[in-house]
Amino acid sequence: MDRAKDIALLNSWVDGAKIITTVTHARPDGDAVGSSAGMASYLASCCGKDTAVLLPDPVPENVAFVLEGIKTVTDKDEAARRLSVTDLLICLDFNVLSRVEGLEELVRAYKGRKVLIDHHEEPDAASFDLCISETHISSACELLYQVLMGMPDIAGEPSKLPEASARALMTGMTTDTNNFANSVYPGTLRMASGLLAAGVDREDIIDRLYHSERPNRLAAMGEMLSERMRLLPEGGAVIILPQSFFDRHGLLDGETEGFVNLPLSVKGVRLSILAREDGGQFRVSIRSKRGTSARLLAKNHFHGGGHEQASGGRILMPQDIADASAAEAYVTDITARFLQEQVAV
Ligand code: 5GP
Ligand code: MN
Repeated sequence: MDRAKDIALLNSWVDGAKIITTVTHARPDGDAVGSSAGMASYLASCCGKDTAVLLPDPVPENVAFVLEGIKTVTDKDEAARRLSVTDLLICLDFNVLSRVEGLEELVRAYKGRKVLIDHHEEPDAASFDLCISETHISSACELLYQVLMGMPDIAGEPSKLPEASARALMTGMTTDTNNFANSVYPGTLRMASGLLAAGVDREDIIDRLYHSERPNRLAAMGEMLSERMRLLPEGGAVIILPQSFFDRHGLLDGETEGFVNLPLSVKGVRLSILAREDGGQFRVSIRSKRGTSARLLAKNHFHGGGHEQASGGRILMPQDIADASAAEAYVTDITARFLQEQVAV
């Protein structure tokens, strides 16, 4: 793995392309949207490319601002048309093509070169022509920042980044670290320092990300903490959110983002697991403190995976449970046993 060589190769492929497109994972989060926007505005402003950002799903309202002025494509037919003229496809913030979900087939069928820039474990390198992957880093945005610093036109000078790119990268790094609470490395602070010096308005970003809540989201959070959080003696917290919870509070998709972190603030809780009903299944989010593997719980029991301290997966019906009413007992049992075993080893 030679980063300088990888960046030189990427630079030569960018040079040779007119139309460049990015794609990211389903239900994109701040890091997915930030890295997509950060790449697209660099390619448009610094390299004069025709760029577009493919999104398998709509983006969370509070991070949508980073896409202002950028061409975005969510419609499948339009994505197919875009890919048919694309010279270079840049894949951001996911490790395997299945995470693109709705657009997976189109991306697999794409004949041109695919570049991956990602920070998840076990990237499927064989699916890409160039794989720039680093796991000891805060976010895809931080890795992309390092890649862009290595491009000859930026040459390590953050102030040469387009303003929109710098803002998008700061935004995605901020959400993926939960505002500097997790996965912060020396490079993360160097990035923040470089972007601040380049003039990024961090207060504005924080306002947009964290001070723009709808009141019903706070009401839902309150009910969740008082009525739905189960604390296990093994140091786990289990939260099940049925469809009725979303209906009653009028919550939009993605509006429970961050809820899974809250139980970790309880003394003695080392793992928090939140399952939310979504169509005919439950989507599972897991967060843990150092020393307890959220990734293993997701991988071994919830058809998923992710990072050591932040992972996700699913509960399938009827394969795993007969119906939604069985979710709480199922998750509680698995989580309690998992935590007991983790103590035993
Ligand atoms: P979240 O809880 O925010 O949805 O997901 C947290 C992290 O878990 C994501 O950044 C991703 O790395 C991982 N993740 C979520 N869902 C899945 C899944 O279905 N499969 C795998 N392999 N990883 C997932
Ligand atoms: Mn990420």
